[in-house]
Amino acid sequence: MNAPHAFQAQVPEPHIRVEGVNKVFATGDRTVTALQDIHLDIPRGQFTCLLGPSGCGKSTLLNAVAGFSLPSSGTIAVDGKPVTAPGPERGMVFQEYALFPWMTVEDNIAFGLHIKGMSKSAIRDRVGELLSMLSLGDFRQRFPKDLSGGMRQRVAIARVLALDSPIMLMDEPFGALDALTRRNLQEELLRIWSGLNKTIIFVTHSIEEAIFLADRIVVMTYRPGTIKRDLLVEIPRMRDPAAPVFNALKRELGVMVMEEQQRHHTDELRLAAVD
Ligand code: ADP
Ligand code: MG
Repeated sequence: MNAPHAFQAQVPEPHIRVEGVNKVFATGDRTVTALQDIHLDIPRGQFTCLLGPSGCGKSTLLNAVAGFSLPSSGTIAVDGKPVTAPGPERGMVFQEYALFPWMTVEDNIAFGLHIKGMSKSAIRDRVGELLSMLSLGDFRQRFPKDLSGGMRQRVAIARVLALDSPIMLMDEPFGALDALTRRNLQEELLRIWSGLNKTIIFVTHSIEEAIFLADRIVVMTYRPGTIKRDLLVEIPRMRDPAAPVFNALKRELGVMVMEEQQRHHTDELRLAAVD
């Protein structure tokens, strides 16, 4: 039964279409079905969270949409165009800060713009805009090693925003941050997302993070990775994690995620017994 705040997702026009996607990995004499028969239509501007415990194929699905690792079968298309490789319309933010350590904050953000062949003055304007959007102005001349985790992740986000990709793919981007910094960046991301009309697919194993951020939560199962539940979060933003409606959804999702965590655990015990 659905709670009153959670409806089955009904999506009008597809922007990102995932159709019958399977992904099988072969490792030694074992094969792992990381994704099985995934169907997902994501409209433009939606903030979708892929939620599930570790090992249920969240990163595999995100990497397939990014074009880093293609499905074994099935198709993924963006605006009707099949995804066969990474592309500028899909920006990726990883958990590990993928910054160039030898470049300043400013140069890290500007990097993609130079590649694009943008003029020096246009780059200066754009970088200035992003530094202020992400409160990085005072850090423009610093190097990544001299920044906190939260600041580094801001730079990583600014770098993807610089390219103006309509789609942002984020793989547990705040997973390594302390709670306060994490909440800060979540709020900032929501602000940026609502101002810039980006489509975001955000991977997390945190139920609270998913409810705080998402329009839509896609819960995945552990091996094979399938879609267990696909629901819209109808709580007005900014959402208050202490509110009863937030907690009701948290409990409901908690049960689902726990079941998958349990399957993961059982599977690990079984594999340990085989070895
Ligand atoms: P999640 O991001 O939800 O933690 P992943 O997508 O990383 O899950 O992995 C899903 C499953 O696929 C896991 O069982 C993992 O061990 C397996 N897997 C992921 N990548 C590879 C790979 N390159 N080779 C073999 N198995 C992989
Ligand atoms: Mg992952």
